[in-house]
Amino acid sequence: MRVQKIQPKSSVEITIPEDLLGFFREVDGLIKKNDDLVTTESDDLIQAEFVYGGLIEEKTDHFGFTYFPEQGAGPCWSIELKATDIGLICSGEKKTLTLWKCQNPDCRSLFSSANESSSDCDYVDDEETVLKKEILKTLSQSSGPEDWVKRYLASLPEADPLEIIGDYNSQPELGAKWGYFSLTEMRQLIEKQKRQEPSNP
Ligand SMILES: [Zn+2]
Repeated sequence: MRVQKIQPKSSVEITIPEDLLGFFREVDGLIKKNDDLVTTESDDLIQAEFVYGGLIEEKTDHFGFTYFPEQGAGPCWSIELKATDIGLICSGEKKTLTLWKCQNPDCRSLFSSANESSSDCDYVDDEETVLKKEILKTLSQSSGPEDWVKRYLASLPEADPLEIIGDYNSQPELGAKWGYFSLTEMRQLIEKQKRQEPSNP
């Protein structure tokens, strides 16, 4: 399971791309006309091919936008601006946006604040998953499938056959080495290991 853990972010100053600038000019025009599209609270009433957004809260001038700087599914920028900022952008007085970047070097998304969570980078494995991954790493040193099951049961005696077979079959390097198990085969292996355990008097 993955749990939310917001990673530290640092601010970056980004020059507003040409296509986004064109979009802001349209939004500015709508604001000046007091169009319903900019006075109604919404996430996505204002749309273009590469960006959507709307008024964050009725009776304010706070707008939120989601911009896709690359074609297709890829990184996105989350942008929040006041109507006055949009005006300044369109008059050329404001040429950059201050956005936030997470520390994952592979992540090209940008956020409107340091506290914003992205689904990709701000979720980490919970303690149980971290522990399980460590156990499975040790188990990969086993001498064969029977040894693997034996060591698995020594670490996680409460696990049921479905969980065990899931953990085994989800590691392709084991399947490549020893083949994959059916549930019946795994049940037999587990039974065999349990019979071999010394029974307490
Ligand atoms: Zn990220």
